[in-house]
Amino acid sequence: YETTGTAWHILSEFIAPALVGKTIDSPMDLNGLLVFMRGHPLARAGVELALWDLMGKRTGASLAHLLGVARRRVEVGVSVGIQPDADALVRVVAGYVEAGYARVKLKIKPGRDLTEVQAVRRAFPQLRLQVDANSAYDLEDVSVFQAMDDLGLLLIEQPLAEDDLIDHARLQAQLATPLCLDESILSARHAAQAVEIGACQIINIKPGRVGGLGEAVAIHDLCHERRIPVWCGGMLETGVGRAANLALAGLPGFTLPGDISATDRYYAFDIAQPSFRLNADSTIDVPEGRGLGVEIDPTALARVTLRRELVAG
Ligand code: MG
Repeated sequence: YETTGTAWHILSEFIAPALVGKTIDSPMDLNGLLVFMRGHPLARAGVELALWDLMGKRTGASLAHLLGVARRRVEVGVSVGIQPDADALVRVVAGYVEAGYARVKLKIKPGRDLTEVQAVRRAFPQLRLQVDANSAYDLEDVSVFQAMDDLGLLLIEQPLAEDDLIDHARLQAQLATPLCLDESILSARHAAQAVEIGACQIINIKPGRVGGLGEAVAIHDLCHERRIPVWCGGMLETGVGRAANLALAGLPGFTLPGDISATDRYYAFDIAQPSFRLNADSTIDVPEGRGLGVEIDPTALARVTLRRELVAG
């Protein structure tokens, strides 16, 4: 995973010294060895993912196999940022539709919402469309979301503050469109409580946000049991995290397309090979190689390396 800045500091100062010399039988054991540490999900997820890769490479199994995934490819969509105006947004969306994406997510914020989403819906009446507010609204904005009920959206993602499950439940009660939580859900416990109080009807799972694949699978399992659809979000992963997200999204509860676009959506070149391409049916293949099914390209990695550090036991 993307161990930059703070995450790298946490990794080198706290996680690595706690693990050097320890025996680990399963990646699932990692959190037990890190009980002294609170938070820092990205750093945890990075180390846990390395353990999954190691386990797969040693046993000859793909990550998908280790997770019990049978699907060979998963449905994906693309996330589109806020554009200068509604016309520009329609043009950007048209480019992605032409590239083969069958599901598009639009970022919205106050003042840049209803007009833009209506314009895209007019231009693409059949497109599977959803919006993501990244916590930009509060409960007084309910009329904006009620107006979106007419647009046939798959979901409205994280409209309110990330630490406010109660107001999400109040908002969901006034809408027909399902709410989906992203930033609010940092653990399986959060997911269970959000579902219990009706704060959402769908959950976006990101392994980096929840501290790794172990917690991501736990959230998937409890949602699957309760018939809550889940989908896999994106955190600008390189090919390393992208490979893991594709394997995860093969689990049966992932019934909505993920924000797992092709490598070229965000990267001119990637540190891992092979890169991921979009199939004609808006899917991407689940990697089949051992471990993550990708290899680090040392030349590409050297091009983006800012600093080296050796952690020794
Ligand atoms: Mg989001």
